[in-house]
Order: sequence, then structure tokens, then C-alpha cells
Amino acid sequence: MKTMDLAMYIGGEWHHGGGPRLDVVNPATAEPLATIPDGTAADLDSAVASARRGLAVWRETHPRVRTQVLFRIAETIKARAEEFAHLDGLNLGESMGTGMWTMHDVVARRFEYYAGMADKIRGDSFVTPGRFLSYTLREPIGVTGHIVPWNGPLWIGSRTIAPALAAGNSVVVKPSSEAPITMLKFAELCVDAGLPPGVFNVVTGRGSGIGDLFATHPGFDAIYFTGSTVVGRRIMEMAARNNVKTVMELGGKSPNIVFADADMEAALDGAILAIFANSGQICVAGSRLLVQESIHDEFVARLVEKAKAITIGGPEDNAMMNPVISAAQKARILDYIEQGKKVARLVTGGGTPADPKLQKGFFVAPTIFDRVPNDSVIAQEEIFGPVLSVSSFRDFDDAIAKANDTRYGLASAVWTENAKTAHLAAQAIQAAQVFINHYYTAAFEVSRSPYKASGSGMSEGPDAIYEFLNQKSVSVKIGESTWG
Ligand code: NAD
Repeated sequence: MKTMDLAMYIGGEWHHGGGPRLDVVNPATAEPLATIPDGTAADLDSAVASARRGLAVWRETHPRVRTQVLFRIAETIKARAEEFAHLDGLNLGESMGTGMWTMHDVVARRFEYYAGMADKIRGDSFVTPGRFLSYTLREPIGVTGHIVPWNGPLWIGSRTIAPALAAGNSVVVKPSSEAPITMLKFAELCVDAGLPPGVFNVVTGRGSGIGDLFATHPGFDAIYFTGSTVVGRRIMEMAARNNVKTVMELGGKSPNIVFADADMEAALDGAILAIFANSGQICVAGSRLLVQESIHDEFVARLVEKAKAITIGGPEDNAMMNPVISAAQKARILDYIEQGKKVARLVTGGGTPADPKLQKGFFVAPTIFDRVPNDSVIAQEEIFGPVLSVSSFRDFDDAIAKANDTRYGLASAVWTENAKTAHLAAQAIQAAQVFINHYYTAAFEVSRSPYKASGSGMSEGPDAIYEFLNQKSVSVKIGESTWG
């Protein structure tokens, strides 16, 4: 297959850049798929300047028109869903079904949701003491920078891009150099939908190159970062030097708690989905399974049977699990597996699948470790691959103590038939999301904010829009002041 030579999208035009190019690889075959420019400081300057010009137009655009443009983006994504899903399949190794779900039920859905909010942004009025009338103005923040991870360019990117545009901001995005393709294609679609030039820009390049420059660029009014906790912390430190606002969606090591009274079959399927969906490359993956001691042995035996039945393949194979994104990520996961073997019992998987067809791409077998000490590396660090750490607990208090014994706080799940246990656990767990008797939810209508090292700021739903608006208070003297 001929490789695609892709360009950055700046100020309504495609820029190939004069510098070196980076390879984008198909993870299912390890073959080159595309090349992208390794963007420079000058490219970023140009994108930020173009976003500043775009902002002047977009923030003055009638909110009703912003609504219409965002709805058109949603419509176009749905109309071109197959093409986008195919490209994500090539770039991420995921199946067509996952890609189609992403385009229809995540990306288009988010644009529809925030399209509906663009013309409903409002302030409040107050009669304040001392004969003043006061009111608030909500205004776009300005030029917003968005740094996106590889596990879903548009799946993750739309979470901040849609509300940013709805609120009247302009956008500069840096997708991961490993997965930039659908974000660049998305720029095409924005033009077709009528977004004025400069409002949406995409720069490409290495995280340690143009990514680092993002965090220190004085032209951004806010930076929205989704990625690992290590890189997020670095960006917060650098952005603080310019007093630039940051919103962070970072890593996780989410506990999935199964009480003895749970519906065991449902909990087993949930535990498999929680860790092996998208080959474990989901920030909210249920990577720590805590099972009540009295059912632990039976649960783990049945879990292993289910894990062994998982089919593995590339995007065309209609398999349940696909490759991980890169050779480097595979090596990192295998390293964690070796560390796990020293402290816990490997009950299935533990390396590259045996199938000869899976030797070239970046495939890792579904792997489960049992009796994992909670202070071990594989119980504490985010592996971001198909590796599950299982341990047991005695009672409710022990379950909560183990669940919260992590620096992360992104997601969690509780499986029980007892409503009181479920709701008490939901209150006690320190995490942004609690799934009860299921794992994963598509509730984009519900806002949440991460706990602990998993980030800061609101995402999804109605409250997320405030992360993209400044609020100003205006007070008008309407009579003789009654203040002493
Ligand atoms: P990463 O932190 O390595 O990279 C994320 C983005 O930051 C990429 O675009 C990358 O190029 C860029 N980057 C890397 N180094 C940089 C630097 N020094 N300066 C500026 N930018 C830099 O993460 P990843 O490996 O792409 O993605 C996996 C991580 O993302 C996991 O930790 C996962 O939990 C997290 N994630 C979190 C969420 C969430 O909603 N909380 C969603 C998806 C992924």
C-alpha cells in the first residue's frame, strides 16, 4: 500500500513543512502507513497566529450560526463514518465496528451535544448590596491548545474540541505522532461544514518537540491535555510559567470490585471487557480486579477460561482484541509482564500470542496475574495494555481501602446485588466515575472531574463548557451607595 504523505492544517491551508518527516506505522502489520511533518517552532507560531485571527471571527459569529456549523460537523462525520473508521483501523489497529461506534456514538454525538449548547451560554444578574446591579458575562477563553493521546484521535480529541468551538474559542490541536491521521482528515471536514479559516488548526510532530513548545507558547490562553500523568505534570509545570490555564485528563489504574453477592456471569463478562476492550488501551480500563475472598478461586478460574477464548487479530479479522499501538508500547507492556512474574501468579497470557500470523504486528496476549500485592509495580502503575492484576478482599472496608490505595482516581466499578453496598461504595471510592453492575458507560451527558493524579478540571456534559469560558462580573451603580 502506498504511504500517505500528510500535511499540517494551518489557517485554512495545508502545510507540508520544510523539515524532516516522521513515519506513522500500521500496528497490525508493522508496515509504514503515512508520513507527517515534524512541526517546528515556526509552524506552531504560525498556527497560533492563525488561531488568533480565527478567534476574532468566531467569537463574533452569531451563536446560532456556531450551532449550525457544529451540527454540520456531526452530520458530515456520520456521512463519512466508514472512511474515518477505516483510517482509524489502519492507524490504531482497531476493528471497523469500534471505529463506526466511535464516529457515530462518540464523535458525532459530542458535536451534536455541544452544538445545542452554543446558543444557550448565559450569565446571571444579581441585585447586590449598596445599590449596585451586577451581572456576569461569559466569554470565550481565546486561543485554546489541545494535546491528544494516540488511543483515539477523535474519540478523545472531540471531548475538548467540541465544547471549545461551541463556546466561541479557536483551536490548535496536536495529535499524537503515532495516531494523527483522522485528526488531519477532520480538518477537511471542518472546512466543508463552514468553519471559518483559522478557527481550527492541526500541527503535527513529536511530543518532545512541538508538544513541549505548546506548553511554553505565550500565545495560548488555555491548554487541554489528555495523556499520561508524567507528561501532564510536565505540561502543567511549563504552562504555569506563563500563567496559562490547564485542564488535565491523565492516567488511571481503576479498581473493579466484585462482591460475593454479585451476578457472577455479568461480573465476569464485565471484568473481561474492562481490561481487554481496545487491548487495555483505555484510560478508564479496569486494570485492578478486586474479588471477595469467598468467591475468588471460582471467579479467577472462570475468568481465565473467558480470557483464553478471546480472539486476536488485525482490523479486518473481526477479532475481539487487536494490536497495541507501537513496538515501543509492546516492549513496555512486556517489561511490566516480566516484573509481574516476579511478584504474582501468572494465570494466563504473558507475552506475544502463539499464532504465527500475529508475530509481525504489535500483539500482546490477554494476560492475567493473580494474588498481586497491592504495593507492587503491576498493581500501582498504569500499564495501558491487556494486563490485569487480580487480588482479593475480606469485607467492604478492606475492598474500599484497597480500591483507594492508588495515586490515580479516574474510574471504578462495583458489582453487587445489594443497593446499600453499591451506593456506600460509590461514596467511598475516590474516582471520577463509578460504574455499578456494568463497566464503561457512554453517558456523555454527565459531567465529572478526575481525582488525585488522574487530572483536574471538568469534562463531558453541561459543566464542561465552563472550562472553555471566562466569567466576568460587571457591577453598575444604580443609586446613592448605602455602604458606609
Ligand atoms: P502521552 O502522555 O505519552 O502523550 C499524550 C500526548 O502528549 C501526545 O500527543 C504526545 O505526543 C504528547 N506529548 C508527549 N510528550 C510530550 C511533551 N514532553 N510535551 C508535550 N506533549 C507531549 O500519552 P499516550 O501514550 O499518547 O496515551 C496514553 C496515556 O493517555 C495513558 O496514560 C492514558 O491513561 C492517557 N489517557 C487519558 C485519558 C483520560 O481521559 N483521562 C484518555 C485517553 C488517554
